[in-house]
Amino acid sequence: MDLQFSAQDETFRQEVRRFLDENLPQSLRDGMRATPGVFVEPDIGQEWQAILHRKGWLAYNWPEDCGGTGWSPIQRYIFEKECALADAPSLPVLSLKLLGPVICKFGTPEQKAHYLPRILDGTDYWCQGFSEPGSGSDLASLKTRAERKEDHYLINGRKL
Ligand SMILES: Cc1cc2nc3c(=O)[nH]c(=O)nc-3n(C[C@H](O)[C@H](O)[C@H](O)COP(=O)(O)OP(=O)(O)OC[C@H]3O[C@@H](n4cnc5c(N)ncnc54)[C@H](O)[C@@H]3O)c2cc1C
Repeated sequence: MDLQFSAQDETFRQEVRRFLDENLPQSLRDGMRATPGVFVEPDIGQEWQAILHRKGWLAYNWPEDCGGTGWSPIQRYIFEKECALADAPSLPVLSLKLLGPVICKFGTPEQKAHYLPRILDGTDYWCQGFSEPGSGSDLASLKTRAERKEDHYLINGRKL
């Protein structure tokens, strides 16, 4: 199996490096280096997201018809690797890598039209609320309930 990157892939890598050199400010690189945990500080993350969104590279793992790049798996790998090497702030996993692709694949046209642009322009920041006081690993013991009330749900419970 030939694991060498093609000449086209190397050209793509140079394009990504040029973009990072010209568009990733030192303040964001320093901010990412100073990030202690999984999630970057909102101001750093939002600034980098806006830069990538303007370029059309924010949803680099989404299909083109949903506002993504339609990049190949190798191109996505090269982009992620070059961003890591350049200390680019990490991107919000839940909206871009979990929820977004699911809406792209299974969402109705109305859901796509409503939720995807709001993820891309930073209006919405998604999180996943599983954990509850007393229910971490044991998701079967979750107590929060959603009760359908005509056109909405009444949710009772606590999340961590
Ligand atoms: C970086 C980070 C990000 C997170 N993000 C999210 C998020 O986005 N959404 C969200 O809902 N939650 C999130 N969490 C919470 C995470 O899901 C819980 O911390 C995890 O499920 C463990 O639950 P707990 O902390 O209540 O520990 P517990 O479930 O109380 O576990 C404590 C210890 O007991 C052990 N243990 C538990 N049950 C058993 C068993 N039956 N037998 C033997 N040993 C057992 C565990 O392995 C662990 O060592 C996040 C946590 C971290 C650290």
